[in-house]
Amino acid sequence: MSATDSDLTNETAAARARAVIPGGVNSPVRAFGSVGGTPLSIVAAHGATVTDVTGREYVDLVASWGPALLGHAHPRVVDAVQRAASRGLSFGASTPGETELAELVVERLAVDGARGIERLRLVSTGTEATMTAIRIARGATGRDVIIKFAGHYHGHSDGLLAESGSGVATLGLPGSAGVPAPIAGLTLVLPYNDRAAVRDAFAAHPGRIAAIIAEGAGANAGILAPEDGFNDFLVETAHREGALFILDEVLTGFRVDPAGWWGHERARGAGYVPDLLTFGKVIGGGMPLAGIGGRADLMELLAPLGPVYQAGTLSGNPLAVAAGVETLRLADAGVYAAVDAASARVASALTAALAAEGVAHTLSFAGNLFSVAFREAPVRDYDDAKDQEAWRYGPFFHAMLAHGVSLPPSVFEAWFLTAAHDDDALTRIEEALPHAARAAAAA
Ligand SMILES: *Cc1c(COP(=O)(O)O)cnc(C)c1O
Repeated sequence: MSATDSDLTNETAAARARAVIPGGVNSPVRAFGSVGGTPLSIVAAHGATVTDVTGREYVDLVASWGPALLGHAHPRVVDAVQRAASRGLSFGASTPGETELAELVVERLAVDGARGIERLRLVSTGTEATMTAIRIARGATGRDVIIKFAGHYHGHSDGLLAESGSGVATLGLPGSAGVPAPIAGLTLVLPYNDRAAVRDAFAAHPGRIAAIIAEGAGANAGILAPEDGFNDFLVETAHREGALFILDEVLTGFRVDPAGWWGHERARGAGYVPDLLTFGKVIGGGMPLAGIGGRADLMELLAPLGPVYQAGTLSGNPLAVAAGVETLRLADAGVYAAVDAASARVASALTAALAAEGVAHTLSFAGNLFSVAFREAPVRDYDDAKDQEAWRYGPFFHAMLAHGVSLPPSVFEAWFLTAAHDDDALTRIEEALPHAARAAAAA
């Protein structure tokens, strides 16, 4: 099947895929589960656009679900990967590039005299990163129970799927079949931004809670950002109770600020330092790469130094590392300013278009990430996010697509701008929005 076959359509591509791939997708969020219709089959992505099998180009607001901070296929990132490929695809041994990437991350996470991390271990997916962070926390504390928040997604490992937003929210599932009850029973799911719920959980399980894990700012059930001081409260409470705090920056890391959500909050007066942080998405610049970072004493519990085992045949893969190093080198203050400005422009056009049609809506923000919910009141937790006229999103989404803009295929997702969204791309989005707002109003 080549990209130039003129008889290819998204429908025929999807039908062919469904015959050999469950649901035709390798990650459920790619299916148009909640918006209906046929998923696009993509053959290329450059800058702010993606191109489907029919050769049609769309302005893209998915950005590979976050990694494409610089825009798709930045020429210098592609060049770095090609040069790495010419030297070999995988060595099963350490490389200088891994050290360079770890140094870049350690440097970026030095904010205001505080060191966010002292050591970094690379893995291939965000799922592995959070899974490993939890294993370190359990190894360090000798405790088993984990606190997570409803609507926060931390990958698809057994213990972390409960009420996790993302595809689970899109498909209306409470969790997943196949997770043993004893494993699920070690995860306490609490409402976000609810301090009393956190205090009560520690009181109800004295000496048993190993860690609290939270997204930097929740961005997988729409945006569920922490209220001012909430992360400080979580760290203080965890430490008072002998537990650790894991900040999952797989999505927010290197996207909302050079030092991620933690850096964003520190610049606004937060004082906390997480015990462990997890990274993914932008850190690999579009290649499979993720990482766990933290204090040396915790990170050195990992094998080969310590008793907590973790490994990976392709961990720190040289092509992925080359993409990550080049992406982080290029992601300077100008890049963040461009993404922030593009995001503000699209958010204001979105709210203006919906207001003009009288569609009840609220936008939630976490730095340059935002999401829309079809309700008047602000969204503070997962129950709020689910309590909206979500059915308006399907017609809205398809009207945008018809006008050449590809949005995330679920209302429970953030919109991702990139540094490649130039005036032309932003204008195309602004021109499409009134059509989509009309479709949402008519739904
Ligand atoms: C995407 C995501 C993950 C999982 O990362 P994968 O690479 O998809 O396994 C974990 N946590 C957060 C916050 C994410 O957004």
